[in-house]
Amino acid sequence: MAQTIVGMELVDLQKALAEAFASPMPAFRARQLYDAVYRQRIQELTAISNLPKQLRAKLGEDFTLGRPSVEQEFRSNDGTIRYLLKLGDGKTVETVWMPSFLKNDAPDNGASEVVDLDRATVCISSQVGCPVDCKFCLTALMGLERSLTAGEIVGQVLVAAGMQEVNRLNIVMMGQGEPLLNLPNVLKATRILTDPTGMAISPRRITVSTAGIIPKIAELGQAPERPKLAISLNASTEEQRQALMPITRKYHLKNLIDACRVYPLRPWEKLTFEYVLLKGVNDTDADARRVVRLLDRIDAKVNLIALNPGPGIAFETPTRERVDSFQTIVRRSLPCFVRTPRGLDVYAACGQLKRMELVGIGSASPSGIL
Ligand code: SAH
Repeated sequence: MAQTIVGMELVDLQKALAEAFASPMPAFRARQLYDAVYRQRIQELTAISNLPKQLRAKLGEDFTLGRPSVEQEFRSNDGTIRYLLKLGDGKTVETVWMPSFLKNDAPDNGASEVVDLDRATVCISSQVGCPVDCKFCLTALMGLERSLTAGEIVGQVLVAAGMQEVNRLNIVMMGQGEPLLNLPNVLKATRILTDPTGMAISPRRITVSTAGIIPKIAELGQAPERPKLAISLNASTEEQRQALMPITRKYHLKNLIDACRVYPLRPWEKLTFEYVLLKGVNDTDADARRVVRLLDRIDAKVNLIALNPGPGIAFETPTRERVDSFQTIVRRSLPCFVRTPRGLDVYAACGQLKRMELVGIGSASPSGIL
């Protein structure tokens, strides 16, 4: 079976080349290949032109690049693209590209305005489906199919970011799956994404989000290559969280908060708490006050998300006024932001990733499907 290159660190690549080639290979060949895959982000192994012919031929026989392929892409009015990517075994997973543009002034000659890509966020998946049964999330309805390899996690960034030069590229592991239930692969992917000689993304620009797998939070805290951490809080009391996120019966809210309190933050880092607001369920002023009390003595920041609805989800989105009132209360004590949903019209927003075909749903027209 051909070996997949995306997902290998430099040491893995050196070892694989040494094994594949009987004659010794100069060390710089592995570096060249590594550079082509992660820094130049080539799309095919055959695109590497600076390797000897013999080596290229052998590479073609024994190795595949192993990037996922784009099965479908759904383009939102706001520039967001939801990709359905196909993996080596035919399973599919979702990745979302969210660009932010800087509008330059229209030139005097009346030509159309120039728009620069300023920053972008790629939301990647860590598993196919998800085993955590959150009651407001569409991905939960899929159940878990399997965890992704490090290569499949990195491959999503390679495909979605492509060759585009982005000043500030952020990665959030908030797509399908629970990243802390796939921690070794998430950490290996992080090492590859952050390697300065390869993809060179700062660990400050990578966030991993968890439903609250307490023992793994402690483990993540010890990992030298760790990305930033976000906790999906989503409730203000033990009972409420157990009803919304049944995993709380195993990992209690109180213990989760205790784990957060001792989490070793780096000097530049805050712990992010995400809170999905569900109309009439967890969105009252009393909830907001309880959230503030829960997060007491944690260097925290709160991101509020008004529910993104979906078929089979038995909750409603609160009004703008309710969201504002909740934010006003939390903001008195902590930094608190309201996240604007991206790609709602193509089911690309948080909690909406369920490999949805866009037949007859939302405002997306069939022309939005490429
Ligand atoms: N399993 C991880 C990462 C995936 S969920 C986690 O739980 O954090 C990413 C974020 O989307 C979480 O904060 C989750 O609470 C939020 N989310 C899930 N369903 C949502 C929905 N329907 N509307 C808005 N946000 C949702």
